[in-house]
Amino acid sequence: METSQICIDLAHTYDIIRATVGIHPCEAQDIPVEKIPEQIAILEKMIETEQQSISGFGEIGFDHYHLSKDVVEAELQKMRQVEWFHAQAQLAKKYNLPVVIHTRNCPQTTLTELQKSGLEKFVIHCFSEDWDFAEKIFQISSETKISFTGILTYPKSLSVQGVAKRAPLNRIMIETDAPYLLPESLKNTVSYCEPVYSKYVFETLCSLREESRETIEQQIWENSVSFFNL
Ligand SMILES: [Zn+2]
Repeated sequence: METSQICIDLAHTYDIIRATVGIHPCEAQDIPVEKIPEQIAILEKMIETEQQSISGFGEIGFDHYHLSKDVVEAELQKMRQVEWFHAQAQLAKKYNLPVVIHTRNCPQTTLTELQKSGLEKFVIHCFSEDWDFAEKIFQISSETKISFTGILTYPKSLSVQGVAKRAPLNRIMIETDAPYLLPESLKNTVSYCEPVYSKYVFETLCSLREESRETIEQQIWENSVSFFNL
């Protein structure tokens, strides 16, 4: 919630910045579900008063990587992630906001719950899954997208690169996940990632695809503008 407010403040300060708001699964997993109504009301107020600054909802979703080592607690955390996800997905639908989905180490949970949610306009951010997952995401609606980060530039990311080759161009966006996931070529020279480095993700994407750079650039731009209603 605090970081959502920081994003809104940044959007107030800089004309080129828009915010997304929401409770990340790694945070949601430790908040009792009894708090959902109260927190959803705060988020709703934020959305209503900051319509100029907010372009989307997120990151929300599922993360089975950062769970408690205690098995019983971990199951409880997974359950809380699901409850928080659906409460927030309903709010996003109510305000017709596009949703940024975080998913790590739990493709099946993510697919199942996305299908249940009825969400149609969302992006799987920081894509790190395979073609089978991507295809199922594309089948959910014509407005779903996947977004690539520095992971695409890593030599070992063959599966993700395969998806970047095959995915329809109108389903792709790029990002950095700053301050994380520096592109490969910057790993030894730069200490943290910034949004400007998305150009390295773009370069890798161009090297994988058959369309011209201009076509890719134009389409990625249009995808982002239309997805976030910019
Ligand atoms: Zn994420």
